[in-house]
Amino acid sequence: MSTALPLVDPAPPASKRGRTTPPRHLADLDLAGRRAAVAALGEPEFRAGQVSHHYFGRLVRDPARMTDLSPASRERIAAELLPTLLTPVKELSCDGGTTRKTLWRLHDGARVESVLMGYRDRVTVCVSSQAGCGMGCPFCATGQAGLTRNLSTAEIVDQVVWFAGQAVDGLGPDVPSRLSHVVFMGMGEPLANYNRVLDAVRRLVAPAPEGLGLSQRHITVSTVGLVPAIERLAGEDLALTLALSLHAPDDDLRDELVPVNQRWKVAEVLQSAWNYAARTGRRVSIEYALIRDVNDQPWRADLLGRLLANKLAHVNLIPLNPTPGSRWDASPKSVEREFLRRVRSAGVPATVRDTRGREIDGACGQLAASENRPQLENRGLTRLGERGKAEQ
Ligand code: SAH
Ligand code: SF4
Repeated sequence: MSTALPLVDPAPPASKRGRTTPPRHLADLDLAGRRAAVAALGEPEFRAGQVSHHYFGRLVRDPARMTDLSPASRERIAAELLPTLLTPVKELSCDGGTTRKTLWRLHDGARVESVLMGYRDRVTVCVSSQAGCGMGCPFCATGQAGLTRNLSTAEIVDQVVWFAGQAVDGLGPDVPSRLSHVVFMGMGEPLANYNRVLDAVRRLVAPAPEGLGLSQRHITVSTVGLVPAIERLAGEDLALTLALSLHAPDDDLRDELVPVNQRWKVAEVLQSAWNYAARTGRRVSIEYALIRDVNDQPWRADLLGRLLANKLAHVNLIPLNPTPGSRWDASPKSVEREFLRRVRSAGVPATVRDTRGREIDGACGQLAASENRPQLENRGLTRLGERGKAEQ
């Protein structure tokens, strides 16, 4: 178990700050809700479509650039439906600008982060669903900091819209200009913020101007294994990709690595994953962070293979990104290769996750945790910008 981390956010702790509701934003509402909201401002209902077209269709977040609205209408609508939800505090990039990470300050001072990864065939953004996380997985920087609060629907959607705008502006010569994939693998447990996450997903998949028009199967919800919420997700009319963070095939170890396992055991959580696969036809991604001498033994690879054989599953091995102060490390490459070989020899498709963005602390919760670490300066980062210093 890792030792306690120093407090990284100079804002007051959540207990003192209290839970604050972010201001309402266009992206919190469906089109009907937006029409009602503009009508309540005394504006004609078609303004809802106009503003939606700017935000979701043109990826314009700044009301000043919505020039087809009269200044008076713009001001009213901006105040009521386009409040600033996310203020970039730090922007980092690597891989020639095709991997980017932004640390955001929310309206109440809470911090979250999002990461963009541009490839030849896709542009993926990894979003946060909560400020912090209450699930307490000991290898995860987010988990060590605890839960501050749930993000609102619009706080989630706005992370995606911001990066979608960056993709349009150009990420590099070989990278598409359209953002195509969203993974809920940033800070937080998405299924512990179920309603807002689902609303955000509905905005992401609704065709423009109601939403971003992304494909359902290009959205991945990663969960620690909240069984009732997985069952509920299976009953939605959405064919999302489900990622289950398993990390151990046996209850003894999973109870420690993923404390929620004390409530829902390996057999139960896997059964809910198979139900999800059966209901949606979607292959479930089983996430397994390989931790040296903790969960990387050959017998655990064999057990994992037996549990997953003949199921609609794919194993994603993640080299552990050690968190500051933790005594755990990634497995050696030879151990990783043997683990992979054994899982595959059970007939289970398995790959090792690309570790892009490591030099900008691209794993779950890392940037928020390292925000004040001076060694960040010495790691060859390209600092895209640093704003909001005065308010920190
Ligand atoms: N709470 C959700 C989603 C966010 S975490 C979940 O746990 O699934 C996204 C992924 O990053 C999870 O698979 C998580 O286990 C993994 N992760 C967290 N900390 C990590 C670390 N230090 N190194 C490698 N993977 C990590
Ligand atoms: Fe929360 Fe996921 Fe981190 Fe566990 S791994 S503490 S569920 S963010």
